[in-house]
Amino acid sequence: MTHTFTYTALPGRVIFGSGTLPRIPDEVRALGCQRALVLSTAEQKDSAAQVAALLGPLCAATFTRAAMHTPVEVTESAMQVASEVRADCTVAVGGGSTTGLGKAIALRTDLPQIVVPTTYAGSEATPILGETAAGRKTTQRSMKVLPEVVIYDVDLTLTLPSALSVTSGINAIAHAVEALYTQDANPVTSMMAEQGTEALAHALPAIVKNPLDKEARSEALLGAWLCGVCLGSVGMALHHKLCHTLGGSFNLPHAETHTVVLPHAVAYNSAAAPEAMKRIARALGASSAAAGLFDLAASLGAPTTLKSLGMPEDALDRAAELATSSPYWNPRPIDRAGIRALLEDAFYGRRPGPA
Ligand code: NAD
Repeated sequence: MTHTFTYTALPGRVIFGSGTLPRIPDEVRALGCQRALVLSTAEQKDSAAQVAALLGPLCAATFTRAAMHTPVEVTESAMQVASEVRADCTVAVGGGSTTGLGKAIALRTDLPQIVVPTTYAGSEATPILGETAAGRKTTQRSMKVLPEVVIYDVDLTLTLPSALSVTSGINAIAHAVEALYTQDANPVTSMMAEQGTEALAHALPAIVKNPLDKEARSEALLGAWLCGVCLGSVGMALHHKLCHTLGGSFNLPHAETHTVVLPHAVAYNSAAAPEAMKRIARALGASSAAAGLFDLAASLGAPTTLKSLGMPEDALDRAAELATSSPYWNPRPIDRAGIRALLEDAFYGRRPGPA
């Protein structure tokens, strides 16, 4: 086989380990900053307070109202605080929602960002921002939103509830899966994708058994970073498009929707991307990529049906229409009947064959 590819590496500094949180003040200073705005959700305000205490005089304020899907009203409130306290950088502690807020501020102000991820969503490794205005979610790519520094502290992930750990981990695997069959796949991201998938598939069962298993948490977080880099570096396809449509149009939860849809999107693409399927199956230790992904979710007690996420059955036609209304690249061409069938399989949680 001869190789032909284009690969663009993204800039960024990554600090990974256990007990890395106290390194935040040095990282703020290294950016040339002295007035950090610390961000979190209301649920993680204790983590924000912990970071503020570590920062001491380097903390200008905390803002603890980050919310799912980055509503612009929340961004505007945070921007007001940032301007009142003359913040010169942000420190986001949390999952994709909090990271999204830091990115939305950076888009408007160019303030440098330090992100401390506490889920496996991977947003910290991407130049992508999704925002919601008047109930409509739009996504854009801009190097302005790529965080400058990411500090992974495994200790902060120990409190991530088991169910969310599983769906967030499978959300990460989804980035890797699509990176393996995307049109701009390349040997570097494919290697990361395979290793990221393997790490998460190995770690998640151990986390479900014992959420405080630090070794498994470390492996999962490392896998999440690798999968996040894949999402940031190459284009995605059918699976991400479907999840975006379902999440935005039917208000379905992010990580859970990814978990339910992934095996079916992979089954749809299976015959069109045999090499990628082999690599996914190998990383999962399964004989089939699609069935292996379904079995992983089911064995960990994750949701397997769109029905259980609150999607109305009479919305399947509309969802199929929305998901096929604008053209985009996918290894197998997108056809309405095929997508309708995929959505129905996901609605009822049918296990994709073969065994
Ligand atoms: P989230 O950030 O919404 O977190 C879910 C809940 O879990 C929140 O209440 C949060 O405070 C809490 N939580 C997070 N970590 C915790 C921990 N360690 N312990 C206890 N509680 C914790 O969930 P998410 O799945 O990480 O992020 C979803 C959002 O991120 C969506 O809006 C999605 O669109 C976005 N996202 C964006 C990208 C991108 O590249 N732009 C990538 C992935 C996800």
